[in-house]
Amino acid sequence: MMDAAEWKLNFQMKTNKFQEGDSWRLQFDATLVPNSPAAGWQQYIRSTSARFRCCGCGRRWPSNHVMVVFHMRLAGGHGVVRVRALRQNCKMCSSAAMAQPNVTSENIDILLEHLVEKIRMKCYHEDLGRQGRPPESLEVQNPHEPEHCEGCQLGICTGR
Ligand SMILES: [Zn+2]
Ligand SMILES: [Zn+2]
Repeated sequence: MMDAAEWKLNFQMKTNKFQEGDSWRLQFDATLVPNSPAAGWQQYIRSTSARFRCCGCGRRWPSNHVMVVFHMRLAGGHGVVRVRALRQNCKMCSSAAMAQPNVTSENIDILLEHLVEKIRMKCYHEDLGRQGRPPESLEVQNPHEPEHCEGCQLGICTGR
């Protein structure tokens, strides 16, 4: 489960503050390929923390290695960010479907705060020169499971 509307609203509130008068929108795109942005697009990859729920057995698990890929472009006053949050699947179910991360409001806010800073740096060439807030991490009992993590499979996961 992922609340796309909350991500979009939060992003809209942050980018409405831009002085330049450019419009920005955020769209989820499950076809984004990490490290292969289309020509003219910039990339930003960041990890966050989230909870998952298996749609087969209902088991829930937390992870502090949830990778989120953003590809962004500003052209003619219109900015677009495509986002893909990488999924994980259940280690108890064989061939379980990949589950979408459920990111807390606080971590959506932190993630998008960093995204907007990256937009300022990469699309407006501002030098912000500061470190952002780390995500609020979750209490995780079990080790990260690379064979059940899409980010690991794509070679971009911090948990590997
Ligand atoms: Zn399961
Ligand atoms: Zn991983």
